Amino acid sequence: MTTKTYAEVWDLDVFFKGGSSSPELREHLNALTVKLDSFEQTLSTFDVPKNESDADKIASIIEETKQVAENLSQAGAVVGCYLAQDTTDKQANLLQGEIGSLGARFSSSMLVVQQQLSRTEDSVWAALMKDKRLKEFSFVLNEWRDEAKELLSEKEEDMITALGVDGYHGWSQLYDLLVGDVKVRVTVDGEEKEFSVGQASNLSSHSDGSVRKESFEALEQAWTDKEEFFAKTLNHMAGFRLAVYKKRGWDSVLKEPLDMNRMKQETLDAMWGAISAHKAPFVKYLKRKSELVGADAMHWYDLDAPVTESTQKVSYQEGAEFILKQFGKFGPELEKFSRKAFEDEWIEAEDRPNKRPGGFCTGMPLSEQSRIFMTYSGTMSNVATLAHELGHAFHSYALRPVHWMNRQYAMGVAETASTFAEMIVADAAVKEATTADEKLALLEDKIQRSVAFFMNIHARFLFETRFYEERKKGIVSASRLNTLMEEAQREAFGDGLGDVHPHFWASKLHFYISRVPFYNFPYTFGYLFSLSIYAKAIEEGSSFEEKYISLLRDTAIMSVEDLAMKHLGEDITQHAFWEKGIALCVKDVEEFLTLTSSKG
Ligand SMILES: [Zn+2]
Repeated sequence: MTTKTYAEVWDLDVFFKGGSSSPELREHLNALTVKLDSFEQTLSTFDVPKNESDADKIASIIEETKQVAENLSQAGAVVGCYLAQDTTDKQANLLQGEIGSLGARFSSSMLVVQQQLSRTEDSVWAALMKDKRLKEFSFVLNEWRDEAKELLSEKEEDMITALGVDGYHGWSQLYDLLVGDVKVRVTVDGEEKEFSVGQASNLSSHSDGSVRKESFEALEQAWTDKEEFFAKTLNHMAGFRLAVYKKRGWDSVLKEPLDMNRMKQETLDAMWGAISAHKAPFVKYLKRKSELVGADAMHWYDLDAPVTESTQKVSYQEGAEFILKQFGKFGPELEKFSRKAFEDEWIEAEDRPNKRPGGFCTGMPLSEQSRIFMTYSGTMSNVATLAHELGHAFHSYALRPVHWMNRQYAMGVAETASTFAEMIVADAAVKEATTADEKLALLEDKIQRSVAFFMNIHARFLFETRFYEERKKGIVSASRLNTLMEEAQREAFGDGLGDVHPHFWASKLHFYISRVPFYNFPYTFGYLFSLSIYAKAIEEGSSFEEKYISLLRDTAIMSVEDLAMKHLGEDITQHAFWEKGIALCVKDVEEFLTLTSSKG
């Protein structure tokens, strides 16, 4: 096969010519505003459905919703790309504000639809759900109705939303402000310099142990100095959330996050149960790693320490070809799709100034395309990130034949296709490493992910659950928060830690995101869920791909329990399912222990 040379800069002109000042984009936004006006007009006369004949009206509202949503997503995604490729693009910034306001209006309209539907009488509802135009949306429609039923009256919910702007989300914004204000001084390469929190946190993987320790201690001290501010912020955010739950009659703090992830409590319990039962190999890994970095125990500040230097450089072209080759072994569709993404310039990978950090994949629903953003600097870890984002794009591709209503998947399954694609490439990279050091570095990279999901995220979950229980009884002091965090870390790391990080609760943004409660367990869920799919794929070979695609197609129209039962024949409320994914990670640890047995 002759291979093209792949461009490292994406093509955004196919959507709207001329970047953020594109007249085509202006026209699109004007048309979108008109569509939204008319949608609001439609809803102003939308009453509670009274009988079966209202199916017509509901079906047409769904079509209008889809129209607005897709036009809105397309605009938002394109403008997001403009800003990512050039953070100084002022026009794109203005457009983002405009699209944000349109988005807020759209959300309010959606709430009206939900509330009207929730008031439908049961017998009328049952008849409506049998209508051939509505049947295919019954999962989502039922979910909307159930959700709305568990809320307070429209008036009360409106008041909560209004008060939440200052009384809830405001605390979350205050957190960002407080963190932005924290500066620490650390000596790097013999020179003392000032660092922001983000910069100082990046020193956690510095090759010099004293830099790692010093930056960690400086940060701990900074959190200690301001612990009362962070404790107050956290307590008030949690207090607001708990007060709302109490008014709605919800007794478990996990109700909302579980509903959002379409997951049962039993599933969550089984997942953590299986993880807790298999900590021993990871504790062994931590011990070996502490020996490799020359420490007496595994201290928090050495968790990210490099054990070896990975020096291998891979050009973008080589990286792309490596990905395509490995994807091809899994299945023809994934390979064909990804080749097209490279050839059609869907990927922005060039290393140049003014790009925002990190990587993402975004969908353009009107064009049935995706765009991937990252900065490629030639490491194997970049190659894995590229594969990860291609996995997200493949998920959207698999969902192409599915109606917009049935594409809104939750966070837990969102990382399934991406982690799966990343695993294919990360695994192959370890196998094909040319030097022992390279192999070790890549293997450690994989194990680090398991430690993050099974230990670090577990600690966050344990801490958050316990904190919320205590918060129900009153304000939890900063020193008590430190104790809760220390206990959670010791437990989650299987007593494998030396020095812990008691102020982690102050340092981690995820505890302060008001819009998503318990921003932790869905990560672990997505990781292990995709590992189990990966284990199945290895077992079944390339014939598995068809099943995989049909699983992806169903990710937004059933609970995670039903999804796993239908496509994998697995009961995920049981430990046994989760243990299969964990077993793959344990294998990596065993290989690591063997490779390093002489070095310890
Ligand atoms: Zn991802």
